[in-house]
Amino acid sequence: MNARRPRVIIVGAGFGGLFAAKTLNNKAVDVLLIDRHNYHTFTPLLYQVATSALDPSEIAYPIRSIFRGSSNVDVLLGDLTDINPEKQTISVRTNGDERTEAYDYLILATGSEVRYFGDKSIREHAFELRNLPDTTRLRNHLLRRFEEASWEPDADKRHALTTIVVVGGGPTGLETAGAVHELFNDVLAREFEDSDLQARVVLVEASPDLLKPYPENLRQAALEQLQSLGVEVVLSNPVVAVSDDEVTLGDGMKIPTKTFIWSAGVKASPVVEMLDVDVSENGRVFISPTTEVIGHEHIYAVGDMAYLENEQGDDYPMMIPPAQQQGQLAAKNILADIAGKAQNNFKYIDRGIMATIGRSRAVAWLYNRIPLRGFIAWVVWLIFHLMTLIGFRNRLNVLINWAWYYFTYDRSVRIILESPKEKD
Ligand SMILES: Cc1cc2nc3c(=O)[nH]c(=O)nc-3n(C[C@H](O)[C@H](O)[C@H](O)COP(=O)(O)OP(=O)(O)OC[C@H]3O[C@@H](n4cnc5c(N)ncnc54)[C@H](O)[C@@H]3O)c2cc1C
Repeated sequence: MNARRPRVIIVGAGFGGLFAAKTLNNKAVDVLLIDRHNYHTFTPLLYQVATSALDPSEIAYPIRSIFRGSSNVDVLLGDLTDINPEKQTISVRTNGDERTEAYDYLILATGSEVRYFGDKSIREHAFELRNLPDTTRLRNHLLRRFEEASWEPDADKRHALTTIVVVGGGPTGLETAGAVHELFNDVLAREFEDSDLQARVVLVEASPDLLKPYPENLRQAALEQLQSLGVEVVLSNPVVAVSDDEVTLGDGMKIPTKTFIWSAGVKASPVVEMLDVDVSENGRVFISPTTEVIGHEHIYAVGDMAYLENEQGDDYPMMIPPAQQQGQLAAKNILADIAGKAQNNFKYIDRGIMATIGRSRAVAWLYNRIPLRGFIAWVVWLIFHLMTLIGFRNRLNVLINWAWYYFTYDRSVRIILESPKEKD
């Protein structure tokens, strides 16, 4: 009789979990890949769905399709609800039922979520950009506000409807501010020809700098590019309160608005709490250089939820490349452990960082050595993102949409898609 093959459960089919599963695909282990969504999301382009440039299906890919034909990877649609390290089991809520699954090795890759720093008014009023449902909600809201503004006779109310406040000077904040500005002032304004509708987009950052990890000259280039686009940038001024009608900043400045987009804080997925271990300041679980959770045998954690420091004592950024590389390493280390071999330590291959600020504008810091800005950085950004999207059909569709927008200034997905119950 054949011996039972070791069973590896991976929770999360984002960047870390997917790379772990791909590494274990067709190897001598049984793999169960669990996610609460039936698709993998390409997060860097979420803001493009929210601003009507892309359709949700173009940045998502069904998990089952990725492993079609696999001899050893099973997929389960469900929500992880509990981990029992003593019994080596987990609980998963699937369609109302709770099921228990046993593992020999567990890889946790459940990512991160928005952090509001305990502020209730921010939490209540914020639009966030974490997943596809968030993006369609924001898209519906933006398009509806513009429709309302075109029929609003009161000038102050009209301006509030077309003022958008984006909080957070990281790449997502910049990209969203740039794209919202272009959606309103380049695309929609041309279709409301009888009105004087113009959007005011304000990017607010609590610290003195945008894009903190970038060198000074690229931060300055990003600021200038945003301003040349028409985005107002407010630095060193935190949001202190948000209401239905306005955002209040630390220096007392009030911005009348109906749209408040929060991209200023991230913390680890709450799955970490199931492990009953100490965590970092933003809730990440401490892992060893082999990616094993400190304090738990046979449990690995990778990506945004995991905390590991490099040789300089800095934690690895909550970004796609560390998640992918840690996912691969966790899988390889499990195979090594099964074979009785030594496990390897994490060595990060850092290819740099980049952010786009709208059509033809971007900054890139390639291999943390080569600074690029403007059109050339934007072209590099386009090529890189097209190459890393999953699926040929998605790549082709995105390329066509981008080219169409580039030459016509038309965004195809301007659809308010909501049931009457969802109307805000
Ligand atoms: C809007 C936005 C833009 C970004 N842009 C960039 C960028 O340009 N470049 C870059 O490098 N990084 C970017 N990031 C960061 C990047 O997305 C993350 O660092 C990366 O996704 C982390 O990978 P991960 O595998 O840890 O988590 P994720 O990719 O987030 O995957 C987590 C998975 O776990 C699933 N999950 C969560 N909880 C449960 C549960 N209880 N049960 C079952 N499944 C669960 C989720 O559905 C998800 O599929 C961006 C993030 C956002 C939100």
